[in-house]
Amino acid sequence: MLKTIPGFDRIGEENAFAVLARATTLASQGKDIINLGIGQPDFQTPEHIVEAAIKALRDGHHGYTPATGTLACREAVSRRMLTTTGQEISPENIMIMPGGKVTMYAAILMFGEPGAEILYPDPGFPIYRSMIEFTGAEPVPVPIREENGFAFSADETLSLINENTRLLIINSPANPCGGVTPKSEIDKLVAGLEKWPDVAILSDEIYDVMTYDGERHQSLLNYPEIRNRLIVLNGWSKTWAMTGWRMGWSVWPDPLYDKVRKLAVNAWSCVNAPAQMAGIAAIDGPQDAVANMMSAFDTRRKLVVEKMNALPNVSCATPKGAFYAFPNISGTGWKAKQLASALLEEAGVATIGGPDFGILGEGYIRLSYANSEDNIEQAIKRIGEFLGT
Ligand code: PLP
Repeated sequence: MLKTIPGFDRIGEENAFAVLARATTLASQGKDIINLGIGQPDFQTPEHIVEAAIKALRDGHHGYTPATGTLACREAVSRRMLTTTGQEISPENIMIMPGGKVTMYAAILMFGEPGAEILYPDPGFPIYRSMIEFTGAEPVPVPIREENGFAFSADETLSLINENTRLLIINSPANPCGGVTPKSEIDKLVAGLEKWPDVAILSDEIYDVMTYDGERHQSLLNYPEIRNRLIVLNGWSKTWAMTGWRMGWSVWPDPLYDKVRKLAVNAWSCVNAPAQMAGIAAIDGPQDAVANMMSAFDTRRKLVVEKMNALPNVSCATPKGAFYAFPNISGTGWKAKQLASALLEEAGVATIGGPDFGILGEGYIRLSYANSEDNIEQAIKRIGEFLGT
């Protein structure tokens, strides 16, 4: 019998990938499936970004780069951070990572061990909890409530911190609920964290520019008082429709930077050079494709909210960010995961059950509006018919 470490008996996964696999299987059997399950933009990476990668390959950029990422790519991220947050971030604090996810992997690995507590949003991105459990640390859910506009509450978050807390994970704009935490709440959180100087913070800001209705994301980088213990996760996947390129960046405080660099050397060496060149083109090139994508998401967002709210026993709060809606289906009498599964198998609509994002996700399903208006309309019509309207 092979004996692996206990962490591998606890590690979880992302059910969104299982739903995608099932939806693909059903589609290959000839079933008509509309996918509102997947968390990736249904747009192609803009052409000038693709061209930059092709040119890099043709120009012979085939070798290793520094583990931290090329200086040119880190400088591009620094320019980007200045534009989006107004903060000067040194390239010496920036890591280029193979995707956004790898930053949470590295951060949780750095602080998680038996006896440690790590706070994470629930409902939230499922990998937070999975990785915390992998390390043997205690996962402590921070409730994300509909009545708070799906923003986290600073008071509630602070009340969960104790002397065992090593890391606090926050995410805004948020997956899966689409909430954007207001500046006032973040101000309060940062003020309260003064009492806990040994708690590190991981701020997942991967949806930073994906907000609506004039809502603005407040980066944690705007608080110099926590900079020495703040890790910021960001990347190219969502903003420039580059999920498959595996391109992320993160900002690390001085005391942690060399540790994450060494982890990179041990695990992935570096991110491939052409992808980094594409990343520079994404940051420095025209942003009209991003604006067009966001305008399409906004139209679809309104459509989802309007159509879902027209279904009896369903209510759908208006998401303020990302590209997900998190309708409340508790009035239908269905358990969320059963409903998501039945919608896929019987109505041909892929969604994700709320409990796949944490126990507080019961009573909700996640709809990704990374699909065409026609498909969204058709999908919600099918959901309505399935629910018997
Ligand atoms: N963080 C959040 C909140 C996400 O929703 C996702 C992807 O869905 C990620 C991180 C990971 O992004 P990437 O695909 O770049 O690893």
